Amino acid sequence: MNNNSIEQLLSFDKEHVWHPYASMTSPLPVYPVASARGVRLRLMDGTELIDGTSSWWSAIHGYNHPVLNRAIQNQLNNIAHVMFGGLTHKPAIELASLLVEITPHGLEKVFFCDSGSVAVEIAIKMAIQYWYASGKPEKNRLLTVKSGYHGDTFMAMSVCDPEGLHQMFGRVIPKQLFANAPATGYNEEWNEDEIKGMEQILHDHHHEIAAIILEPVLQGAGGMRFYSPQYVKRVHELSSKYNVLFIADEIATGFGRTGSLFACEKAGISPDIMCVGKAITGGYMSLAATIATKEVAKTISSGKDGAFMHGPTFMANPLACAVAVASIKLLLSMPWKRRVAEIEARLKEGLSHYSDMPEVAGVRALGAIGVIEMKEAVDLKSVQEKIIKLGVWLRPFGKVIYTMPPYIIQDHELDIIMDAMGRLAKG
Ligand SMILES: *Cc1c(COP(=O)(O)O)cnc(C)c1O
Repeated sequence: MNNNSIEQLLSFDKEHVWHPYASMTSPLPVYPVASARGVRLRLMDGTELIDGTSSWWSAIHGYNHPVLNRAIQNQLNNIAHVMFGGLTHKPAIELASLLVEITPHGLEKVFFCDSGSVAVEIAIKMAIQYWYASGKPEKNRLLTVKSGYHGDTFMAMSVCDPEGLHQMFGRVIPKQLFANAPATGYNEEWNEDEIKGMEQILHDHHHEIAAIILEPVLQGAGGMRFYSPQYVKRVHELSSKYNVLFIADEIATGFGRTGSLFACEKAGISPDIMCVGKAITGGYMSLAATIATKEVAKTISSGKDGAFMHGPTFMANPLACAVAVASIKLLLSMPWKRRVAEIEARLKEGLSHYSDMPEVAGVRALGAIGVIEMKEAVDLKSVQEKIIKLGVWLRPFGKVIYTMPPYIIQDHELDIIMDAMGRLAKG
């Protein structure tokens, strides 16, 4: 590989580099990115694309942001990484302090890790260890809803939609308990009957359940489904009634995406354990956190094996923590709530023009999330090239053509994204 022409790079990539959710022998084409600024990705051949995905929902401030760049550069001059066992550092402490301050009341004890899936593993380990330390080791199963997504590692897979991505692993992952997916839409009138299935499972199985895990209000990778905050509220009430912990997976919803800083706020609840990730570093580096209440932390720590047995090598990486602190401060310093509300209004208006198309099942928007749901699954292979030709970057999945743009996107850029979504829906 001495001559790095685009073709040579791509041919090496095709031969040797595994991409997400992809075949290694017949992969779909990939497009080499050279740089990015604001909401625009620049490919190696000079093509510019308006990014409608925030790089899997994380780059909320766009790319190459001077404030975030500076935070990493400054930290790099001090230290790039140091182990977290027996040592600590200011970026981690500052980030923990911010997270305790802005997350729902009662969440106080912060455990850092390197990705969302691992944050979910940690939350589940905490829940199981909590009951172990309470003298109830039989409470070790999980209850969740269908159509969810919580990550790709093993315990996280066990609480993903059983008919989703990970079906082939069904034999080796633990069998969890699933209620039907929430059905009442975000703004629809709540029907108390909807909670009966969940309550029945709790009634029958609470003695063996450690925790309920939910993505509050937005089921993301399971289909971009927005559902009633009342559902979250009722499940949270039931979790207390039946003595199981409540884990909120806010990895997709955290940091303003749904129009609230955290989606739990819409339901007015504080979970026992919460996972955050994705947008935490503004899309710069891999970092996530699991935050627990004092009660959860105290119980785990009081058990006879009082330590919490987890500790990734790159736990609380200082560069990642420093850029997360900068990203959260930047978010809080801008009128993010107004901007996300404006994006929601524009998405609702713009996407409504496609709702009557024969191919389209429905359109919806919540916060900075816009969705066209098709009647049939979208064939990524046939639309990917078209997406590039339209000058945008989108990544439809299943029946869903969606956008989750950076909050800094301008109105005319959002219109270009929506126009592209409409053209893709036309097929
Ligand atoms: C993306 C996501 C995860 C997994 O995070 P990774 O960083 O990809 O491991 C878990 N839960 C939810 C809700 C997510 O959206």
